[in-house]
Amino acid sequence: MKIKSVNLDQVAGFPSQFPKDDFDEIAFAGRSNVGKSSFINSFLGKKNLAKTSSKPGKTKTINFYKINDKFRLVDLPGYGFARVSKKEKEKWNKLIHDYLYTRENLKEVFLLVDIRHAPTKQDMQMYDWIIDSGFTGFVIATKYDKIPKTHLKKHIKELTKTLNIDDEGLVFAYSSLTGHNNDVLLEQVGVIIDS
Ligand code: GDP
Repeated sequence: MKIKSVNLDQVAGFPSQFPKDDFDEIAFAGRSNVGKSSFINSFLGKKNLAKTSSKPGKTKTINFYKINDKFRLVDLPGYGFARVSKKEKEKWNKLIHDYLYTRENLKEVFLLVDIRHAPTKQDMQMYDWIIDSGFTGFVIATKYDKIPKTHLKKHIKELTKTLNIDDEGLVFAYSSLTGHNNDVLLEQVGVIIDS
């Protein structure tokens, strides 16, 4: 798949603000600072589309980008930021949960985790939600450039074990610095959209 056009379609703080049409959606979830904004910018070939988190914990919304006038890429709010109130956290969690469980447009969800660290409890909960909502369970392991290539297997093993993933083929090591696996993910998203 080639990215020909990208337009910010909608910014939603509540389910009532989700777009009301039947464009397919592919969503990306992950904890704050995992590298999701960098991934989205790199994946779409845009420098400053998704804001990289200089101020984590700022207002959280679900951002909907229309791609090639054909489908939407959906940026879910980063979770797990420590310095926010319990009430705020619950609000974001509910927004993500409602989106995953009720959104008919949603065709697939990718979970982003940092390749260097074992997934957190919240990553595990998010992955459980993704599987429980009936999605395949693709994972993007970010910041691949930060580990020696010889450690890749070890990190993928730890990640698949913690998230309880049988098929290592669901995990894509990714670097927004080098663009590693960008072509593979473009291909994968294209397949999902055309299926
Ligand atoms: P977000 O909060 O998930 O949107 O994370 P950001 O995209 O803002 O990234 C958090 C930090 O990780 C920033 O300092 C980024 O420059 C850095 N980062 C993100 N992706 C990569 C990557 O692939 N490689 C390296 N080396 N740093 C990255």
